[in-house]
Amino acid sequence: MDESRQGESYALELKGDLELNKKFYIESYGCQMNFSDSEIIASILNGQGYGTTRNPEEADLIFLNTCSIREKAEQTVRKRLTEFKKSKLQKPGMLIGVLGCMAERLKTKLLEEEKLVDMVVGPDAYRTLPQLIEEAETGSKAVNVLLSREETYADISPVRLNSNGITAFVSIMRGCNNMCSFCVVPFTRGRERSRDDASILQECTELFKQGFREVTLLGQNVDSYYWVDPVTNHIVDFAMLLEKIALINPLLRVRFSTSHPKDITDKVLHTMKKYDNICKYIHLPLQSGSTRVLQLMNRTYTREWYKAKVNRIKEIMPDCAISADIIAGFCTEDEQDHQDTLEIMEHTAYEYSYMFIYSERPGTLAAKRYSDDVPTEIKKRRLAEIVSLQNRLSLESNQKDVGKTFQVLIEGNSKKSDNQWMGRNSQNKVIVFEKQNQFQQKPGDYVTVSVTGCTQGTLFATQLM
Ligand code: SAM
Ligand code: SF4
Repeated sequence: MDESRQGESYALELKGDLELNKKFYIESYGCQMNFSDSEIIASILNGQGYGTTRNPEEADLIFLNTCSIREKAEQTVRKRLTEFKKSKLQKPGMLIGVLGCMAERLKTKLLEEEKLVDMVVGPDAYRTLPQLIEEAETGSKAVNVLLSREETYADISPVRLNSNGITAFVSIMRGCNNMCSFCVVPFTRGRERSRDDASILQECTELFKQGFREVTLLGQNVDSYYWVDPVTNHIVDFAMLLEKIALINPLLRVRFSTSHPKDITDKVLHTMKKYDNICKYIHLPLQSGSTRVLQLMNRTYTREWYKAKVNRIKEIMPDCAISADIIAGFCTEDEQDHQDTLEIMEHTAYEYSYMFIYSERPGTLAAKRYSDDVPTEIKKRRLAEIVSLQNRLSLESNQKDVGKTFQVLIEGNSKKSDNQWMGRNSQNKVIVFEKQNQFQQKPGDYVTVSVTGCTQGTLFATQLM
């Protein structure tokens, strides 16, 4: 979940955009999977003659691709919907749709009670958007929130939105079969299903041909990727998929997210080690460092198991960066549990973490079974301690890189200056360095840099080659 991208609106110059007389506007919230889904939605709408716009006022269709993971995400979307309802008064033919994770949970409320939207479409129903739009155009309320056991949108070639032309997300599976007690995803996105490997390979190969140099394979739990070829009966697991993609071209980097600590295997770790173009970076959500809390969360590992997994990763790939998701203030969490979390953070020395306050979600196991009993002030204080520790760990990790050389994939200009390039190393660290005329570099090139300094979030470097 990239906070800086929440609510990002999308537009791109679709071929023939100028001739397309209908336009849609889409805002995306939540995880990378949702941003990736917006690219599938764009592809479906483009096929129906819709161009994109960044200006909601000139749109015929307004879509919010929503997230339910925390209460705050839902509140933001509701606020946006109220604003769009006002725009609709100025432009009566305009249709407003809620897509994604809030659809199932709030369909009746949004459509009937609050009359905020014309369409409600769940994450497995995007193929039916053309019919739903037609239905809504006649004035009826259009709804499809059915979840599927098969849908992977494998054959839909996503339209890359807001793309830098170098890095892309590729969805390899949908849904989740884990029942972490705090999490709404299994309810909003349905059962886990893997996408066929041939279509994934084809998409990645196509991206490489178009000039993309990095793909991030997406799934809630990528390590349980499992595809059985219906013709040959050959099984493809995640390690095999990684290898196939790594072999497309050594210049195509491969990343993936998210791994579940219980599922990431030695086979995956050895495959990562074997190929230079599989990035040495693992997002390994911790959630809590206390075995007691992990049990209540239904994470199916203990703190010892998690630490052993971290040790194994570092044993096989000493240069592998690790990041985590951490929740502060889950039901019954006491000071010792919190200290246990801080202790594992120190042990792992995470390069980065996504850190959240526990937010009770209606319908989840935790909401049914446990009381959300940690007072907000305590949750906030614990989160602040977690964030402050992570800041120190990130800085220390970056300081250790000063003086080292890395290969960097250039993604574009740095945020601060057009005279600087910004790229990432294999460990996913952002590296900024001055452009030098003699090198004639461009985005998509790999360069070697030497790190000269750092902040907690960025490495500064000089280009060597
Ligand atoms: N499937 C991934 C996994 O298991 O790690 C990530 C799923 S979720 C989209 C991303 C993160 O949101 C979770 O890892 C968790 O830390 C956080 N999260 C999920 N439900 C939450 C809740 N009810 N309150 C606070 N944070 C939550
Ligand atoms: Fe949610 Fe757990 Fe599935 Fe991740 S693994 S999506 S946290 S239920």
